[in-house]
Amino acid sequence: MLRETSRLHLLEQRTRMLDTLSTIVEMLLQLPAPEAYVDAAGSSSAMLQQVAQHIVDLTQQHLGCSHVSLLVIDHNTKIFYPAALAGFSVGQARRFRATIAGFRLSDLLIDPEMIVQLEDQEVLRFNITQSPPLQSIVPLVQHAIWHLMAIQAHHSILGLLGIQFLEADYHPTPDDLLLMKAMRKLSALLIEHEHQSMERANLIFELQLMNEHLREANVQLETANDTQGNFISLIGYEFRSALTSIQGFSELLGEEEFGRREVRNFAADILSDAMRLKHLIDDMLELKQLQSGHIKLQREYVDLNGLLREVVKRFRSIESQHPIYLQLDKALPLIKGDREKLMHVVSNLLSNAVKYSPALAPIVVSSKLEQNLAHVIVRDNGIGIAAGDLERIFSAYRLLEGKMVHEHHEVGLGLPMVRQIIEMHGGHTWAESTLGKGSRFHFILPQG
Ligand code: ADP
Repeated sequence: MLRETSRLHLLEQRTRMLDTLSTIVEMLLQLPAPEAYVDAAGSSSAMLQQVAQHIVDLTQQHLGCSHVSLLVIDHNTKIFYPAALAGFSVGQARRFRATIAGFRLSDLLIDPEMIVQLEDQEVLRFNITQSPPLQSIVPLVQHAIWHLMAIQAHHSILGLLGIQFLEADYHPTPDDLLLMKAMRKLSALLIEHEHQSMERANLIFELQLMNEHLREANVQLETANDTQGNFISLIGYEFRSALTSIQGFSELLGEEEFGRREVRNFAADILSDAMRLKHLIDDMLELKQLQSGHIKLQREYVDLNGLLREVVKRFRSIESQHPIYLQLDKALPLIKGDREKLMHVVSNLLSNAVKYSPALAPIVVSSKLEQNLAHVIVRDNGIGIAAGDLERIFSAYRLLEGKMVHEHHEVGLGLPMVRQIIEMHGGHTWAESTLGKGSRFHFILPQG
């Protein structure tokens, strides 16, 4: 009879346990799918806490224990936070949360052997006085003995389930252990679900960010397209005006009788217009090729001082109106670069210095070694450049802004080309200037 009663009691207990488990499973099934979390930003941990609370409440009810705590390890920071507590008064819960907050698993369980035991799925009988951060909890709870289980998935610990029985010397029965392990499994499912939703939300956030970047890039591309369209119309304008003047002179020459001097003057004008067009087309094609990456640098060891001497020598031979001085740093190392392109850079800067300075105004070309970098400066005493134009002059699209272009036909692409070549060498270019006093054009090249 006694046997019958205890079997009945056991059966009742098992039925209750199964009821408890099925209630939690139902709750887990009712959790929104991970994608549903995305719209309700921030609601995922609220959801986690709600279900976690049911898990600890049901655990406490069924085991008849005094306290249960479900601690979750934050996915990113690895720091604990109590997701749910049962058996604590409001004040005790607040103190318990404050005590746990900010700790990692290795802070709470300083003995690594304990962590190994937990990882082996064991139920750890743990005296919290052995854990410095947890010592202060002792007065809050019944006694110092807790039964700890690691909540795990894919061999990593996601959290801890802590259970305190009414008596310190109580040892869980096989049925208790069955329920405790089932609760641990459900907690793992819950936390994994939470992680998945967070990851999904993060992924969607990143996608949205990427989308935003793409949209911005698109807008920039459209602007660039517009700019390119403008650029072509500007070049068209230049072509038309040069051709109109060539055509005008040719017609005039055909229609009327002119003296030799007048004809020579017309011819000189036609030549200058034609040269301007040629210069523009050459520059445009070259810049385009440099920018497209089709042209590769022919790198070799270049003696930059020797190169500066050579360009200056050429200029001196064709240009007698400006004294050109050299100030070279003998310590300059060899540079690994494209000799011809670097000659082009220096010629461009020198020809601008000549073009934009009055006759006899001196020009200085200098080099110096600065922390393994070769620094070259072309200095003139010419008309100077307004501060607002110092960056613009290096851009091919400055031509669009127009006013200088149409007044003085300054449509060269020399400086954009200079910058492109120096950047291809891993270097850097810039200009300094004082209006009416002169300019300094700098470039810096790494040894390469
Ligand atoms: P270009 O000289 O053929 O117009 P660049 O690209 O070489 O083309 O120069 C762009 C503009 O920068 C010039 O039109 C001029 O206004 C200005 N600039 C360049 N170098 C100097 C300089 N040394 N002094 C004053 N202005 C300069």
